[in-house]
Amino acid sequence: EPLTLSNDIPIVDPHVGHKKVLVTGGAGFIGSHVAYALLDRGDSVVVVDEMNDYYDVKIKEANLKLLQEKSDSMNGDGGHLAIYLGDINNQTLMREVFEVESPEWICHLAARAGVRPSIQNPLLYVQANVQGTTNILEYSREYKVRNVVMASSSSVYGESQSTFFSESEDVNEPVSPYAATKRSGELIAYSYHHLYGLNITNLRFFTVYGPRGRPDMAPYKFISSVSSGKTIEQYGDGSTSRDYTYIDDIVDGVIRSIDRAYPYQIFNLGKGSGTKLSEFIALVEKHVGKKANIKLLPEQPGDVPFTNADVSKASRYLGYKSKISTDEGIKKTVAWFESMLGEVASNQWAEQ
Ligand code: NAD
Repeated sequence: EPLTLSNDIPIVDPHVGHKKVLVTGGAGFIGSHVAYALLDRGDSVVVVDEMNDYYDVKIKEANLKLLQEKSDSMNGDGGHLAIYLGDINNQTLMREVFEVESPEWICHLAARAGVRPSIQNPLLYVQANVQGTTNILEYSREYKVRNVVMASSSSVYGESQSTFFSESEDVNEPVSPYAATKRSGELIAYSYHHLYGLNITNLRFFTVYGPRGRPDMAPYKFISSVSSGKTIEQYGDGSTSRDYTYIDDIVDGVIRSIDRAYPYQIFNLGKGSGTKLSEFIALVEKHVGKKANIKLLPEQPGDVPFTNADVSKASRYLGYKSKISTDEGIKKTVAWFESMLGEVASNQWAEQ
């Protein structure tokens, strides 16, 4: 009986529910969602995360607590969780992780994210994203892992003029150090595939949002500010557009990639169409039920005018299909935000 992840392409993967997956960056936004979904289907998860203070560490601690509770609730019926706190560049730590845990699947999401801070501190980005990725690939080669799935970014497309960004276009003109480190990761990964036959899939995520979303990103800031009556800082006139992707769609695409183990591939994971900043804010107003106070600021260096994912390749190879519209995604995110604010008067989110 072929296994099916959702409702389309059936896959034959005898390991589903029995994998041990190393999720780097597993305490972060996307990583904690992916780890949760893997535990939920009975896979074992090994998290490595340095818990850096790029945003409030309490959020990452809460994410890990959620994973621990999920693992505990499985009552030994799969879903084992191991957590290692430290830097993916720390050789002693990483040696221990591979020796003790022997993960055969890697989902490499640890990175310094964010375009604007990369302009302030490019070296930090190179260390985490280029050196760190190379280190993960080195261990993956040495320990002969079955499949490496790693996070790239829509930012590699730079100021592409294509209506829809496709994996086949040249991406040699990154407009921020962050984008350059993500493209570098893809290229180093290719060399590991070429030299050692490592299976590697690079996923170019397009602006991900949803419950537990990063507080430094615009979607979270908009919801939190509109809800509390604070002023929104809007960069540009609102005509810039982003392919905003709801977290559940991203998790679905990541897990499909983990289960398929292509020799070397790059896939866009996005919604498949852009939404103007002004429309996004209007949807936030609709679901929060309040008007936004907007302060207009100039466009920021490193920002691109628009992103639009061509998801036909991911659809063909992975059976990926974005299922959540922006309207529904914002509705769900606002519902999460409000429920979580109601839980405790002062929690890690309220302080963002
Ligand atoms: P996040 O900051 O919430 O998660 C990243 C996690 O990695 C953090 O918990 C951080 O502590 C950890 N980390 C960073 N450097 C590390 C290191 N050297 N060693 C160990 N741990 C380290 O970010 P996210 O939004 O969940 O992003 C996950 C991945 O997806 C990143 O690779 C990011 O570049 C990529 N991405 C995200 C988006 C998005 O919209 N969120 C878009 C494109 C690509």
